[in-house]
Amino acid sequence: MSKRHEGLPAVTVVGGGLAGCEAAYQIAERGLQVILREMRPGTMTEAHRTSKLAELVCSNSLRSDEPGSAPGLLKEELRRLGSLVMRVADQTSVPAGKALAVDREEFSQRISNLIESHPSISLVRDEVQELPEGITVVASGPLTSATLARALGEVIGDHYLYFYDAISPIVSSGSLDMAALFAASRYGGYPAYLNAAMGESEYRAFRTALLDGERFPLREFESLEEASRDVPYFEGCLPAEELARRGEDTLRFGPMKPVGLTDPKTGRRPYAVVQLRPENRACTMYNLVGFQTKLVRKDQRRVFRMIPGLERAEFLRYGSVHRNTYIDGPRCLKQTLELRARARTYIAGQLCGVEGYVESVASGLVAGINAARLARALPPAVLPLTSMVGALLNYVTRDAPWRHQPMNANFGILPSPDEDVRGKARRKAKAERALRELEEWMGRQEESGETWPASGSGAAPRLQMGWST
Ligand SMILES: Cc1cc2nc3c(=O)[nH]c(=O)nc-3n(C[C@H](O)[C@H](O)[C@H](O)COP(=O)(O)OP(=O)(O)OC[C@H]3O[C@@H](n4cnc5c(N)ncnc54)[C@H](O)[C@@H]3O)c2cc1C
Repeated sequence: MSKRHEGLPAVTVVGGGLAGCEAAYQIAERGLQVILREMRPGTMTEAHRTSKLAELVCSNSLRSDEPGSAPGLLKEELRRLGSLVMRVADQTSVPAGKALAVDREEFSQRISNLIESHPSISLVRDEVQELPEGITVVASGPLTSATLARALGEVIGDHYLYFYDAISPIVSSGSLDMAALFAASRYGGYPAYLNAAMGESEYRAFRTALLDGERFPLREFESLEEASRDVPYFEGCLPAEELARRGEDTLRFGPMKPVGLTDPKTGRRPYAVVQLRPENRACTMYNLVGFQTKLVRKDQRRVFRMIPGLERAEFLRYGSVHRNTYIDGPRCLKQTLELRARARTYIAGQLCGVEGYVESVASGLVAGINAARLARALPPAVLPLTSMVGALLNYVTRDAPWRHQPMNANFGILPSPDEDVRGKARRKAKAERALRELEEWMGRQEESGETWPASGSGAAPRLQMGWST
């Protein structure tokens, strides 16, 4: 821990989940007092079962730990930055092949013990109903209590606060067969979309495959009936397979409508069309417009690769439909995760628009660093955009050109490498640059007085970057 800053007001962290625990630890390790407020067990969420901090609400897997994968790179960066959650995840791992899975009980018990015994953290068990005064990190998660969500909505504007994810898959542009697609917007104008035309038999086969696909089960609190009762606009975000179920042509009158488009190969309007919209300014990622889905991942790959031009698509993010409270980051947040509408309040975790356990941890770590820097009157920290953590937060605060949808770690959000390489070599070049530039950045921060918690040393990587074939 760095020297203690006596006399400075305590920083408040709302929510003792993955992001909140990481943020509290980062702030406390920088010598500041932290008040961590967690509403459980007095008030529970629909998914949590215990009073423990950092409870994993679903899977015990933190996804791939392969250094050559995007989630593996994210984990490695967090280890170097001194993440508490990653340290405990490594200590409590269970065999899971190439993934990092943890013993969920031991994982959250250890984090609870470390937070509760930390000399600079006071844990308060209460439900926060108003945004606290002073420097605050709000990390109340995808199931933020209704009262706090209302208070946040009043500050940022209700239309920037969402209660459901309706996420369409994202594919990498390099994996598309461009010869099979045509660029156009409906009724002309700037050709903003890539379009995949389908004939009648292709459309029918595609619809049948959608209907036959295996789906993730909905939890009770995520049912569509519940959803449409709470959220009137949810009807506009129905899963594609649900649209397919409603009728032979429902998709053709919905996301696959061909009106206003002419296939240059035939000179005619196609029978049906799938539109792909650029997901970032560099156009390295494309979103399948309107294809939010509850299909399991293997069936997303199988079904969506039936679309002409997507036969070899690389999926950077899979589709989903989830109960999830989150804000429109690009409209509401500075790159440091501070709210534009309320200085000194940072948003972290799933609430800031990242998707996933480890991504939530990453945003908690950066919000914690920045809250601690603000308290010590240091300039804010923005991680290199070439690092996975930096690129992810850049995406959720700046890069999404449309209504924001939550984003996970993937290689598509990292800028192109200098070398003109493809496939695995390209990912390797991006990952090596990410770690190199992160370490250089950490070194520069140290020169200006920044410190890292015990395990955060850029000089001592736990993993070598290895590349399996
Ligand atoms: C049902 C469900 C299943 C998921 N499954 C997975 C999965 O398998 N893998 C994956 O990677 N991601 C999953 N996610 C997404 C996400 O990664 C996790 O929800 C993750 O826990 C988010 O971390 P967080 O810190 O943002 O929120 P959380 O870990 O949920 O922490 C938020 C904390 O804030 C507390 N809180 C809420 N409101 C208040 C308040 N007003 N005052 C005080 N405390 C408050 C909550 O009790 C909670 O402890 C799932 C999400 C949901 C909803």
